[in-house]
Amino acid sequence: MIEPGGLAIRDVVVRYGRSRRDTTTTAVDGVTLDVAGGEVLALLGPSGCGKSSLLRAVAGLEPVAAGTIEFDGEDLADVPVHRRGFGLLFQEGQLFPHRDVGRNVAYGLEIQKMSRADRDARVEELLEAVGLTGYARRAVATLSGGQQQRVALARSLAPQPRLLLLDEPLSALDRQLRERLAHDVRRTLKDTGTTSVFVTHDHAEAFTVADRVAVMDAGRLLQVDTPDALRTAPASDRVAEFLGI
Ligand code: ADP
Repeated sequence: MIEPGGLAIRDVVVRYGRSRRDTTTTAVDGVTLDVAGGEVLALLGPSGCGKSSLLRAVAGLEPVAAGTIEFDGEDLADVPVHRRGFGLLFQEGQLFPHRDVGRNVAYGLEIQKMSRADRDARVEELLEAVGLTGYARRAVATLSGGQQQRVALARSLAPQPRLLLLDEPLSALDRQLRERLAHDVRRTLKDTGTTSVFVTHDHAEAFTVADRVAVMDAGRLLQVDTPDALRTAPASDRVAEFLGI
């Protein structure tokens, strides 16, 4: 099925400096990339290669110095963060400690002024999707780190974002748990048909989670391909080296 919507990144540059003329660091150096509706794309590369900067530019949290970002054919240059309809999930899900699990998941739905009955039904549906059926009344302090990230994922999906941006969402967890959760995150994103960009420095995780993987180095894209194509036909020694092939 061809899903509607999609992200189009064209020649995007992100720079950091003390002023517009101070271009000390070029974090993203002319990236062009498409993410199709319903696709899960991983942005993979070593620490400091510009993954988060690109993700933050898509979110509207970082200005672009050059290039364009469009979603569904609309240029986002003048669209503020809260009007983009995107969801964000970070390394530490930062749940609200004084709300129980259900009310954490319901947060975005309360802002949308969804009725209580619809909200409760949606919270149940999301908790089931992340494998936490029956957890609605639990206090977040009683959950493990992995369970907390599941709740954070459910919360970010509840308002049905048209694009979900995940920045190293599993990095704070231990290795074994990360692998299991990577599978579950993929299943949840595909089941909900959520167009997603998933930032990680871990190639195993990128291969598990994504339909396609965009390999970045020093602000540039080296190769964008399916996990199978990357494994069998890395485009350069640098890609092969980074993937440990
Ligand atoms: P990654 O997500 O791949 O680890 P980042 O996008 O965080 O990479 O960083 C890319 C480059 O931009 C790095 O050199 C980093 O030091 C620099 N950088 C990131 N954020 C800032 C900032 N707020 N101010 C100045 N430099 C930054």
